[in-house]
Amino acid sequence: MACLGCRLANGREAIHTVYEDDFVTCLLDHDPFSEGHTLIMPKRHAVELEELDDPLAKAVMEASQIVSRAIKLLYRPDGITICQNGGVFNELTHFHLHVVPRTAERPFSEFWSAARMNPQSQQLSRTREMLSSSIAAIIACQ
Ligand SMILES: [Zn+2]
Repeated sequence: MACLGCRLANGREAIHTVYEDDFVTCLLDHDPFSEGHTLIMPKRHAVELEELDDPLAKAVMEASQIVSRAIKLLYRPDGITICQNGGVFNELTHFHLHVVPRTAERPFSEFWSAARMNPQSQQLSRTREMLSSSIAAIIACQ
């Protein structure tokens, strides 16, 4: 599996998975903009948004809704930004949708700079536990 994104989405690399189904894996960004910053990645290789077939596109959207609900429950952010970078701006060359909790004080322009959290692995593990528990509770209520 040559593609790093495919390896991440299929658990072949050390990742912090918060949710997965048959189509997608939702994992914590290793260098998050904010706590709870999650990536939604197809398990099957795809690069651009328009390459996603209907079931996969639906799975990506449903996962983004589940993750957003969990982030809101857990962190009470002022808002959530969801974004995807295509072409040369996709440094992973594998489709990934960012789900980013935001506070009003922090401009999103910092997303594109080096001002990331640079968390320890322990902190990511704690975030993973909290977010995956929140997601499990949401799914149990559906
Ligand atoms: Zn891939």
